[in-house]
Amino acid sequence: MRVGVLALQGGVAEHLSMLERAGARGIPIRNASQLAEVEGLILPGGESTAIGRLLHRSGLAEAIIQRARGGMPVWGTCAGMILLAREIAGEEVRHLGLMDIRVRRNAYGGQLESFIAHRVVPEVAQAPLPLVFIRAPYIEAMGPGVRPLLDLEGKTVAARQEHLLATAFHPELTDRVEFHRYFVQMVSAQE
Ligand code: GLN
Repeated sequence: MRVGVLALQGGVAEHLSMLERAGARGIPIRNASQLAEVEGLILPGGESTAIGRLLHRSGLAEAIIQRARGGMPVWGTCAGMILLAREIAGEEVRHLGLMDIRVRRNAYGGQLESFIAHRVVPEVAQAPLPLVFIRAPYIEAMGPGVRPLLDLEGKTVAARQEHLLATAFHPELTDRVEFHRYFVQMVSAQE
């Protein structure tokens, strides 16, 4: 199975190697024709404003929206979750607008407020997973079709809407492959 990682800016290499560990082939995606070669897509962390700008400039935004509307599974981590959101709190812009969530950027403060929490995410793994938050957003509102997968101190930090998955944290920066396996299963279920 081939799973793409959007490779315009941000943490691409870590997702590619986690996909290999999860039993899928990871493919960096830089243009719309490469997108046609994959069955699922990861939007990595990085800077959502920069990635958003490049998404539109490369024509990939339209292509991703079309594929996702057709059922292609998409997982956004951190900045990738911001790209997926229907609304960004306090901002006029939206990027892909695919998922019925309102996110707040930098919701935990700046780089120095980065932290690691350990939690069980019941749908993903039975043992606690390390959750790495780096200038992370959280989900502050969601539509009825969205299911929270994990709340942390009252804020939703992982959620799923059918074939769309969003995490405020970075599983690719840990040694635990469960989230990537979970997404690979979402992709194989969709075929
Ligand atoms: N703060 C970044 C943004 O708003 C996201 C940070 C990250 O992806 N680690 O896009």
